[in-house]
Amino acid sequence: MRNQLVVGNWKLHGSLLENQSLLNLLKQSLHDLHGVDTAVCLPYVYLFQAQAMLQDSAIAWGAQNVSQFTEGAYTSCVSAAMVAEFGCRYSIVGHSERRALKLESNQVATKRVLHALHAGLTPIFCVGETVDERDGGMAELIVKNQMLNIVYGLDDEAFALAKKFNMVIAYEPVWAIGTGQHASPEQAQRMHAFIRWMIAERDPEFATQIRIVYGGSLSPSNAQSLLSMPDIDGGLLGRAALVAEDFIQICRTAALCQHQKQSAVEPPTPQPVSLA
Ligand code: PEP
Repeated sequence: MRNQLVVGNWKLHGSLLENQSLLNLLKQSLHDLHGVDTAVCLPYVYLFQAQAMLQDSAIAWGAQNVSQFTEGAYTSCVSAAMVAEFGCRYSIVGHSERRALKLESNQVATKRVLHALHAGLTPIFCVGETVDERDGGMAELIVKNQMLNIVYGLDDEAFALAKKFNMVIAYEPVWAIGTGQHASPEQAQRMHAFIRWMIAERDPEFATQIRIVYGGSLSPSNAQSLLSMPDIDGGLLGRAALVAEDFIQICRTAALCQHQKQSAVEPPTPQPVSLA
């Protein structure tokens, strides 16, 4: 059975002092949760601090991106192997803010996934449509295109690494990120089921194991309805990750939802979802 996963994406926030207080609060409250893995993805410069503070805790840590290069004349880039040296378990890849600000293509995002996997990291690969794409009835098509390089672009060796390191997919509708307007549980469930079905086309067993988390204005007030959906395996949080009580509350809600899912009879098998 898949554990829930709750990951904080701190984005461009934090200071040594603020991080210390936030991480201490998280450590105190998140040591006894069952069925939920927790992590924070911080700016690179704070990975050393995260490693020092979290290494004996239940909270994992990660980066917000990794380079598509191994090494060389690439000013300001940080490689997957470098972040792995700081004990990172995860790296977010292909976040919509990177896609929009830095024009990162699916091809580049896939290269970053490969580098993360070869460094032993778990990539959290982000997909999601804009509001115009959803309004134009293109949401599934856009997500399908973003997923294609992962589902069919990884060769057998890379796909085996994706399974070994439990690659994660984050469905983050762009219109829901930082807007306070979250996807409805039904909208999110439908897309998560679609993503799982795509993965099942290549590897049915992995499709039942891979965690597909939801991101986009997830908050303590909507977490229960979203995280209780059968194909939603946790959350990627922006704003709520910076407020200790909110992050902790969402992790506790995830534990509750996980308990309910474990008590349910049979985990559902991925079903085909039409593009219509
Ligand atoms: C994000 O940027 O990954 C995110 C989910 O942000 P927020 O929770 O603030 O919508």
